[in-house]
Amino acid sequence: MPSCIECGGALFYDRELKHYTCSSCGATYTSQDLLIEREKKFNAKFEEERKKRRRDEYLEWWLSSKQ
Ligand SMILES: [Zn+2]
Repeated sequence: MPSCIECGGALFYDRELKHYTCSSCGATYTSQDLLIEREKKFNAKFEEERKKRRRDEYLEWWLSSKQ
C-alpha cells in the first residue's frame, strides 16, 4: 500500500475516479504522481549515498596522506 507524499498517511485507491486518496489529509494522487514521486525519492537517496561515499573516500585519502 503506497503512503501519502504529504503526510505519510495510508492511501486508498478509488476505482471509479482512478486515483489514490489519503485517509489522513485527503490529498489525491494518480498512480503516475506516485510513480514520479517514488523515482524522485529513489534518486535523492542514491545521490545522498554517492555523496557520502565520496566523503568517506576523501577522508580515507586524507588519513592515509598523513602517514
Ligand atoms: Zn496525506
